[in-house]
Amino acid sequence: MSQAPASLSDRGAADILLPDLLPLAKQAADAADRLLAAAKQAVVAKVSRDGKVSAALIEREQFAAHGLAWAATYVEALRQLSAYAHRMSEEKRLGEFEALIVQVAFGEYLTQMTGGIPMSQGETVRPRDLGIAEADIAAFETTPAVKTLTAAGNTAEVRARIAEFIAANSGAATFGDAGLEDTYEAIRDQMRKFADAEVMPHAHEWHLKDDYIPLEVIAQMSELGVFGLTIPEEFGGLGLGKESMCVVSEELSRGYIGVGSLGTRSEIAAELILGGGTRDQKDKWLPKIASGEVLPTAVFTEPNTGSDLASLKTRGRREGDVYKVTGNKTWITHAARADVMTLLCRTNDEPGYKGLSMLLAEKPRGGDENLPGGRHDGRRDPVLGYRGMKEFESADNFEVRPKLLGGEEGGGFNG
Ligand SMILES: Cc1cc2nc3c(=O)[nH]c(=O)nc-3n(C[C@H](O)[C@H](O)[C@H](O)COP(=O)(O)OP(=O)(O)OC[C@H]3O[C@@H](n4cnc5c(N)ncnc54)[C@H](O)[C@@H]3O)c2cc1C
Repeated sequence: MSQAPASLSDRGAADILLPDLLPLAKQAADAADRLLAAAKQAVVAKVSRDGKVSAALIEREQFAAHGLAWAATYVEALRQLSAYAHRMSEEKRLGEFEALIVQVAFGEYLTQMTGGIPMSQGETVRPRDLGIAEADIAAFETTPAVKTLTAAGNTAEVRARIAEFIAANSGAATFGDAGLEDTYEAIRDQMRKFADAEVMPHAHEWHLKDDYIPLEVIAQMSELGVFGLTIPEEFGGLGLGKESMCVVSEELSRGYIGVGSLGTRSEIAAELILGGGTRDQKDKWLPKIASGEVLPTAVFTEPNTGSDLASLKTRGRREGDVYKVTGNKTWITHAARADVMTLLCRTNDEPGYKGLSMLLAEKPRGGDENLPGGRHDGRRDPVLGYRGMKEFESADNFEVRPKLLGGEEGGGFNG
């Protein structure tokens, strides 16, 4: 449990800490759930024709559809916070700091759910945008737990008290007890020590010189198991949950964002292979990815296609045992140094995701000037931050000698 601040705020903790926080959180999360159900029903009505969801209507109503996704994310966050508070209380780990964080988060999120959720700087979604009936909005706003938490959950005094806790625990890895299992806290500790000793002293220099993260540092990370955290033990990994990726990424990123995100491409490739690969592909790649012997790179984004990957245009055409790839790929992190590319391209004329295939294309490690593999020339995209792996774009036409993930074309979005 966190150290209590020496100087209590003038009003004292007792005044601002809501009594009955646990039932309040549960009741408010349930009310948020009901509001979400009403939102879902209203948005489904907007985007359906003849009882079926229509892609054209989703396009027309994309503000509401996007807003529904945000609302659902908020409600899930509230559910999880309520579950966290209950779990921590049962384990006698819910101190004042933890309880205040829960109540401030409820106060803010519940207020935004009716006042407006900021989806970006220029877009705020409100219940009426989703088509929620006035009666459902009123039922939510008048739920006693929602009223209490919006009125007293997130006040200036609560925030000041949290700030006192943060100051009193300066240097701590987390704000309060994160509630993770001991294993994850031990991993956090280990990664923090590694980042302090091996990363922090050199990170600024790597950044200023726009250097690669040294291979010796990557070798040390391999020994610590960073590249096989979530890969099952049968394939040489540690078989841990996704929380391990969060903890490790957080702690290593404290040292240098590039080091913190080095494991991301390994995680992406491993997840793709686990979800969509054949048994042979799993046996071949996963142990090498887990040990750090193989560094993958993700080749998905195109100059005009980022978030909406299903509409990408790069073609992959089979000619004998190679695929001729036509089209530009961009923002390929760690491309030159990587040993294998996970490359998403269109291998048939089906529109959207159905025409996509994921290629596992081996390549030799190379220098900065080009993406190796002979005919796969690449250019560098300089970046202001997030240095240490270097970003590349690929040429218009190149050949790869790949294996299809899963062995069949058209399964690029599986897994
Ligand atoms: C440093 C760096 C490294 C990267 N490394 C890799 C890599 O290794 N491999 C790789 O494949 N890619 C990589 N990327 C690309 C990254 O995945 C894309 O930038 C990302 O997918 C977003 O795509 P975009 O830049 O085209 O933005 P867009 O998709 O054009 O989005 C622009 C804005 O519009 C919003 N938006 C998009 N769709 C919607 C919608 N339907 N409704 C409302 N708002 C929407 C977005 O939230 C965003 O704010 C990298 C990018 C960077 C900056």
